[in-house]
Amino acid sequence: MAAPRFKRILLKVGGESMVGDREYGIDPQAALEVANQIKSIYVKGVQIAVVIGGGNIFRGLAGSKNGIDRATADYMGMLATVMNALALQDALEKVGVPTRVQSALQMPAVAESFVRRRAMRHMEKGRVVILAAGTGVPYVTTDTGASLHALELHCDVMMKATKVNGIYDQDPNKNKDARRFKTLTFKDAISMPGVEVMDTAALAMCSENDLAVMVFKLFEGNNLSQAVDGQDIGTYVSNQVTTQFAE
Ligand code: UDP
Repeated sequence: MAAPRFKRILLKVGGESMVGDREYGIDPQAALEVANQIKSIYVKGVQIAVVIGGGNIFRGLAGSKNGIDRATADYMGMLATVMNALALQDALEKVGVPTRVQSALQMPAVAESFVRRRAMRHMEKGRVVILAAGTGVPYVTTDTGASLHALELHCDVMMKATKVNGIYDQDPNKNKDARRFKTLTFKDAISMPGVEVMDTAALAMCSENDLAVMVFKLFEGNNLSQAVDGQDIGTYVSNQVTTQFAE
């Protein structure tokens, strides 16, 4: 097996990946599919930290629109990510991948508290570290948590696995003329109208610290495995590229 290009990655998995065919919540079969994708790169020897979202259960912004105090709603969203983290841990262990869950909110009965050096040590020992509760503070999302953790854990790249096969100039679900970018500068990712990648705060942090972001569809062929091999998958966002559409 050829050596993977990236030795240590931060994989951001949206809560939507855990929902399967349901409208809401966790489908154990979907969790197993996510786990099998992760296993496909684990067996290559890649060190993996996973930041899991919570949008399949609860999003703070939606809660606050329904009248819940925004910070309270965000803490509820963070708790949703802990549920997903436990479901993903269960699924990963079922397929034989050792894991640890670390939470940015203290919850000692179900997860270790996030300790940066311990998370790095787990990865060095061949454990997948699942990072729950994002940053542990409200008013941001797990994308910001993923960027922060990717930087502090010295990951080579942040991979955002989504339902869509990369970043488009318009919403591809609404506009059939939408075009996918092969490469995108952070400047364009932040400023181009119609381009939605992740929070501006998260993008700015990656840009300032020169951390490349790959965005691709999780459940499509061997995308994740090809991404860690450095193949041309989805959209690659970096300060070192020029913005180009895919063929
Ligand atoms: N959240 C937060 N701080 C964080 C991470 C998450 O307040 O550092 C809350 C926020 O309300 C968010 C929810 O947790 O909407 C679930 O996370 P997210 O929306 O990022 O999940 P995803 O869209 O990735 O499934």
